[in-house]
Amino acid sequence: MNHHARTRVPETINIIGAGIAGTWQALLFAQAGCKVTLHERSEPSMTESTGYWAGGMLAPYCESEGAEPVITRLGLRSLDLWREALPQTPFNGSLVVSHARDRADFERFARLAQGHSRVDAAAIAALEPDLAGRFHEGLYFDREGHVDPRQVLPALHAKLRAAGVPIEYKSQAAPDDFDGAVIDCRGIAARGDCPSLRGVKGEIAMIETAEITLSRPVRLIHPRWSLYVVPRANNRFLIGATTIESEDTGVSVRSALELLTTAYSVHPAFGEARILEVGAALRPAFPDNLPRIVAGNRTVTVNGLYRHGFLLAPAVAEATVAHVMGERTDAEVVRCA
Ligand SMILES: Cc1cc2nc3c(=O)[nH]c(=O)nc-3n(C[C@H](O)[C@H](O)[C@H](O)COP(=O)(O)OP(=O)(O)OC[C@H]3O[C@@H](n4cnc5c(N)ncnc54)[C@H](O)[C@@H]3O)c2cc1C
Repeated sequence: MNHHARTRVPETINIIGAGIAGTWQALLFAQAGCKVTLHERSEPSMTESTGYWAGGMLAPYCESEGAEPVITRLGLRSLDLWREALPQTPFNGSLVVSHARDRADFERFARLAQGHSRVDAAAIAALEPDLAGRFHEGLYFDREGHVDPRQVLPALHAKLRAAGVPIEYKSQAAPDDFDGAVIDCRGIAARGDCPSLRGVKGEIAMIETAEITLSRPVRLIHPRWSLYVVPRANNRFLIGATTIESEDTGVSVRSALELLTTAYSVHPAFGEARILEVGAALRPAFPDNLPRIVAGNRTVTVNGLYRHGFLLAPAVAEATVAHVMGERTDAEVVRCA
């Protein structure tokens, strides 16, 4: 067995990358009593992180339809950690709907995903009044939450600064720049040092309309694509996200059509919405699409959060701290370099 507990607890830790992975590492190492510095190449608005484009859904149950059990396990633990760190995080569930013609795919999703109850048209209307009369049946995942990445990263950074953790923005760093312990959370930018890491493109559209209000993410089941609409503040909605094996970061006409069709098909009022933004980013993924904590002598690499960075970052950080502090090693995610 090569997962030995470390005996020397590092006092100072440099973390590279203030995306969702690095930010949670910084929070939990600081809570564990380490002196932490966070280095980020972006501006404070975090435009260079994959997370800037993310839906921000904390949806371990919906994701259990297609993800491995370890994702559900870490995801459920993360929900507790999100609640503790940011008690105002909305946990008002998610809704999955389909049109009658896509019933077979809806039933398949219902069979594979855990943690939902079936809701009829009246219950859908009670949850989302603007969807009244649109769908006969849905699945309600009442324990799921969602965050707006463009707000939650700055909020967590403010929390770090309040805890005395310096964040060096516009600071491009490499693991060899430091003498002591380093946690490498560079996401897809670490690809040069991790040959098995790949980028999986996700495209989104941001639209704006005051004609319709939603309180929670709504996923529309479709035989060829399964996309969602996530409400944001100020009458905005993020429509996401494609999953394409490509490292190009452009948005194709086909994807734009699929994204906008999804919104229109959830509610025709979206047809009058203004398109504010379309964009894409690369999800960092290992060949098995599972997260990995690779513990070397001095550097621990945390990467491969794929389509679950917001969902998994807290529990992955907790596992990293437990390993580095020599408390316990989660053999499902920790590898020794
Ligand atoms: C369209 C889309 C939708 C998504 N929706 C969801 C969702 O609903 N729920 C969910 O849980 N996940 C979602 N994801 C996945 C999630 O965004 C990723 O898993 C997550 O962003 C990965 O986090 P990370 O911190 O590893 O990488 P990143 O977010 O990319 O952060 C890495 C950071 O490191 C910085 N960096 C890189 N190199 C250096 C360097 N040399 N020096 C200093 N800083 C450096 C980068 O600037 C960046 O800020 C989505 C992704 C996409 C693309």
